[in-house]
Parts: sequence; structure tokens; C-alpha cells
Amino acid sequence: MVPETNPSVSTRFFDTKIELLKGVGPQKAALLNEELGIFTFGDLIQHYPFRHEDRTVFHQIRSLNEQLSAAQIRGRLKEWTTIGEGSKKRLVAYFTDGTGLLELVWFQSIAWYQKNLRANTEYIVFGKPLYFGGRWSITHPEIELVTPENESGGYWQPIYPLTDKLRKRFVDSRSLSRMVRNLLEISRPHIRESLPENLVTKYRLISKADALWNFHLPQSQQWLHQAQRRLKFEELFYNQFRLIKNKLLHKTEYPGMVFGNAALVKTFYDRHLPFQLTNAQIRVLHEIHEDLKTGKQMNRLLQGDVGSGKTIVAFITMLFALDNDAQACLMAPTEILADQHYQGLKKFADLLGVHIAKLTGSTKKKDREIIHKQLLDGSLHILVGTHALIEDIVQFKNLGLCIIDEQHRFGVAQRAKLWAKNDRIYPHMLVMTATPIPRTLAMTLYGDLDISAINELPVGRKPIKTVHRYDAHRISVFGFLREEIAKGRQIYLVYPLIEESEKMDLKDLMDGYESVSRSFPEVPLSILHGKMKSQDKDYEMGRFVRGETKIMVATTVIEVGVNVPNASVMVIENAERFGLSQLHQLRGRVGRGAEQSYCILITDYKISKDTKLRIETLCRTNDGFEIAEVDLQLRGPGDMSGTQQSGLVDLLVANLAQDGEILKVARSCAEEILTEDPDLLQPVNQPIRTHLQNLRTEETNWGRIS
Ligand code: ADP
Ligand code: MG
Repeated sequence: MVPETNPSVSTRFFDTKIELLKGVGPQKAALLNEELGIFTFGDLIQHYPFRHEDRTVFHQIRSLNEQLSAAQIRGRLKEWTTIGEGSKKRLVAYFTDGTGLLELVWFQSIAWYQKNLRANTEYIVFGKPLYFGGRWSITHPEIELVTPENESGGYWQPIYPLTDKLRKRFVDSRSLSRMVRNLLEISRPHIRESLPENLVTKYRLISKADALWNFHLPQSQQWLHQAQRRLKFEELFYNQFRLIKNKLLHKTEYPGMVFGNAALVKTFYDRHLPFQLTNAQIRVLHEIHEDLKTGKQMNRLLQGDVGSGKTIVAFITMLFALDNDAQACLMAPTEILADQHYQGLKKFADLLGVHIAKLTGSTKKKDREIIHKQLLDGSLHILVGTHALIEDIVQFKNLGLCIIDEQHRFGVAQRAKLWAKNDRIYPHMLVMTATPIPRTLAMTLYGDLDISAINELPVGRKPIKTVHRYDAHRISVFGFLREEIAKGRQIYLVYPLIEESEKMDLKDLMDGYESVSRSFPEVPLSILHGKMKSQDKDYEMGRFVRGETKIMVATTVIEVGVNVPNASVMVIENAERFGLSQLHQLRGRVGRGAEQSYCILITDYKISKDTKLRIETLCRTNDGFEIAEVDLQLRGPGDMSGTQQSGLVDLLVANLAQDGEILKVARSCAEEILTEDPDLLQPVNQPIRTHLQNLRTEETNWGRIS
């Protein structure tokens, strides 16, 4: 026998196949594999409950009240009978605990209950009590015989994520928690403390073993809370630890080009700056310039609200590269955005005689060949494009800076592909986000980057006034639009377009267009929606941009890539159907000129509480950072734009909408440890080493595939 080299013993225990657990067996194991991806002991112990039912007390029928979300009652079944016909047919059983009578009602599986229920036998029932016609009842209660295990109550029942198939095969939260109990009972000697002792003490965390036990089967609500706190801390600590480690690795291992010369930058500053930079722009440029001088590779995130002026910051950063015989590229997620960036940057580039080109999927072969050639001989300085520019055939003479505009997130893999475009030295990397993202999300999604934020709009820009109006006020809204048109302004009128109900939405848009043309017979209109041919779209857009049409009736296709400074009113119909960030994005289409701009959100009278909060938030503030925070609270991190597909915020326990404080502490702990003991040589940090090794083996655990 090979002697065990200490702690890895535990890992092997958690690699044990699930069918070897008491109470599981091959058939259930196959179900758990297929339905929940549970293959090993380790998988089961990490299949966490999402809530717990209070089974601590037995309620008395006499003292039930309708505020109870659920009640647990111990008593006897007296008799039962079926009532009604067809879809109304139900089984009603009469149940008493000596203090009153309770009706148990089943619409389904009637025959099964008729056959299996036993009269005058003690049961425990659980469900939501309702009071109707002088009687208490529970529909489809959970019902089980009294056993030594449950007879005294006093426990919290974990509720697990399950599937229909599992339920049909009688695997429910109950049976799952029994399996977990069996597992926990044999696990104790194998559960190792995975955090350094000094952290556990300092933050008064409970032990890993206690946490696992109490997260599944809490002794009390306090213990449950402590278990969650401990596991959240650990999860966020390791999440941050790996990100920061990666960041430091780049700082220490990879040299960066030193951009010491700044001749073009200076010329641009002295002669061509089209406006005075805001303090925020200056600060951010300073942060970037510091990075570029160090000789370390820059990996920085640039956040800034719509209209905060990211383009000029991007351009000046590019000039630093050009000043030092290096090239720069900018990658955007869509053709429209790539084009917008190209147009914006070209204006500046032309002032300096800097050579810039655009490369997208629709670039013609001939033009493409020229671009490839000029990139290689160095005569092309800046390349703007879509992901077309990460293709292998695109090679640079000396790429020194990559800027990525992430409206939807590009993966880390794509970042790596861009780095590899220079085989001598990694180019510097600047990632821009089109809209601000909440702090917690930024820390987990971009925790391996340094972060800069432009948190100020250019001066002289009047904050957009946002108001909420109901459908019924349309006449007065139209009156206001008429006044604005008379003053020479232009207007956007936007309708939602949701893919599932595209036909209906399109009808809304057409109806809206008709009603606008009836109300404004003398005003030239444009219309724009995704179903139009792209040349028709360009034509309509062109007319609006030139001011030939005054109202643009459109779907959300205008969300990106439109800049019409004279448009000063944004009317959003059915505003309840848009997400908060999307409304903010749309609103950002106005407020680009010198005039006072307005955003009018129109909804039905009846709106939900969430909608009300969304609308109130927009009416209160123009601050994209604040809006992003509210959006996160409302929707949770999973649904925030762009993060859903990425699956990158892969957290089992922690919730980025709620656990910001824990995240902050966990991050600073990780930072401190990595600064003081980067190679984890101190004995106190041994648990981190071991845990990271285990995480790695889990990631390469091929065993579960076979
Ligand atoms: P975004 O951050 O949304 O990309 P842009 O870079 O497109 O913003 O800038 C929005 C508008 O504001 C542009 O018309 C730009 O020329 C202008 N702008 C940017 N910075 C300033 C500034 N410091 N002063 C005045 N106008 C500015
Ligand atoms: Mg921009």
C-alpha cells in the first residue's frame, strides 16, 4: 500500500462515487447523475439548499392564521370522501389535532391517497393553511406518518433544487436531505478547514465542518445564518484570491512595453484638443499613463457612463502607443459599434495624420488584403473592428495596445488571443464597458484588472429631465412634443421589441406610427425597426440625422450607434417592459447637445412594484453607477446584461446583490495574503495551498466523464 501523503486523503473521500453512499444505490445514482450532475460525495455535499422550511414547531389548528406561509400540524386522520365531478373532483380528508378540524384536499393522485391513507393513525401535515367558509384547509399538503425522526419537530427542512423527473421518481427534498445526512455523518473526519486559522478567528467564522452541516441541516436559524456567512466568505475569498493572483502574476511575470515618448500626445493636447477634458478624464488618463510607464503589462478596466467621453480617452491612450513605434487596435462586439468607434476615432486621427482603418466581417476581400499588408509593414497605425480582428491571419508589425469595448462580455480567452498578437511582448490591454456595472459585479467579473472610472459628465451638459406619464396623458405629452418641435428640436418615440412577441410589438409600433402621423399631420416622420432592410434603415436614419424628419418612431434598434445632438426628447412607450439598464441606455440617446433634454416614460396605470421602483429610480437620477446598483438589486446578478451568457460569476452560495460587504472583506484578505506571502510559504497559509490544489484536481477530474 502506498502511504498516504497527508491531507489529500480527504479529497479522495469526496471523490467517492455517489452510488457508494448508504441509501443511494445504482438506480438513484443514475438519476442524480443525469438530473443534478451529482456524481461524487463532493458533488452532493455542494448541492446546497436554496431555502429551509420551518419545522421547528407544531401549530395548533385552533390558533392558525392566514399570515402563516406554511404550518406544521400533528394529528389524526378521521375519514375522507371524494366531492365534485370532472376537473372539480377532489379528495377531502378530515384531520384533527384535538384543538380543531382541518380539511386536507387533493385534486391529483386521488386513487393513490384513497388506497394508502390510514384512518385513526398519527400523521404530520405541512402546507399553507387557508380559511374559507368557516373552515381551515390545506390543499396538496405534505403528509407523512409520525416517526421517531420527526415526532418532536424541532428541525429546519432544507429545500433543494430538483427536477420534475426526480419528483416523479420519489426523490424529493426529504429523501435528498436523508442522503445528505448519511453523508455528513461519515464525512466529519474528512472535512478539512479550508481557510487559514487567523482569518477564521478574526472574522469569527464557524468551522468548515460545522458550516457544511448547518447549511444543510441547521440546528437553528442562528446556525444557518452562520453557516451561510462562513461559506459565502470562503467562496468569495477564493474567487478573489484567484483573480488577484492572476493580476499580480501579470504585474510581476510579464514585462510591458515602456511608453516613454509622448510627442503626438503633446501635439494633440496643445493644438487639437476639441474641448477641455473633464477632471475625471484627466485622472483616468493619468492612471493609464502611470501603467504605461512602469514596464509592466497594463490590464485595466475603464468604466464610464454613456456620454462620459470614453472615446477621447481611448484615442489618447492609442497615441501613447503610436508615439513609441507601436500599433493599437480596438475591438467592439458589433458592426454598428465598431463603426461608431471608427467614426469617432477617425475624426481625431485625421487631425494628426494618423492612419486608421476598420475591419469587420463585411470588409471586402481586396480591402482586407490591404489592411493585412499595412498592419505588417507598420504603415497602418490603428485598427478598429469586430472580433474579425482576432483571427489568426490578422498580424501586426508591433501591436502595443488593445482596447476592448465590451457591451456584452468577451471572454478571457479572447483577451488572451489579443495578447498573443505580439509574440515578443504582451500588448497593454484596456477594457471599456459601455455602461457602468455595479461594484460587486466589477470585482468578480473584472477582479483581475485594475479599475478606472469616469464618474463625471462633460461640463455644460444639462442633466436630462425624466418624468413618468400614464397612457391616459398622451394628449398632453403630444402637446409638449409639438412645442419642442416648434423650437426646432427632434424627438425619439420608442416601442419595446421583445423577440417572443415580435409580431405584436411590431403592431404596437405600426399603430403608434399611425397615431403619431394623425396627431402630427404636418410633421415629417421616420420609422425604424429591425425587420427593415439595412439600406432602408440607413436611409431613414440619414433623414433624421440631417434634420429632415422631426420624429423618429422606432424600436430599440436605436439603442446603440445613434448620435443626433439635436434630438432632445426621448419618449418611451410601454416603459414597464424595459429593464432598468436598457431604459438608461435609451435615455442616453438624448442629452447630447446644448439644449435641455427630456425623457418621458409612459406606462399603463397598473404597474408592478418593481416597475415603479425602476421608473422612480430613472426619474430621480442620471447616474449610471447608481442605476446599475438598483438594477442588480432588482434582477440579481444572473440577469444583468452580458453576464448571463458568460457563466463567469459562478457562485454557489454568495449573492452579489446582497453580499457586497463580505466580498469587500474577502477581497482585502486575499490581497493582504498575496502581498505578504505570495508563494504561500507561511504555515498559517497552508490550508489555502491545499485547497487550491484540490480545486485544481476537481477541475481536471476526468473520472466523472467515464
Ligand atoms: P462615451 O463615453 O459614451 O463613448 P463619447 O466619447 O462618445 O462618450 O463622448 C460623448 C460626446 O461628448 C462626444 O460628442 C464627445 O465629443 C463629447 N465629449 C467628450 N468629452 C468631452 C469634454 N471633456 N467636453 C466636452 N465634450 C466632450
Ligand atoms: Mg462610446
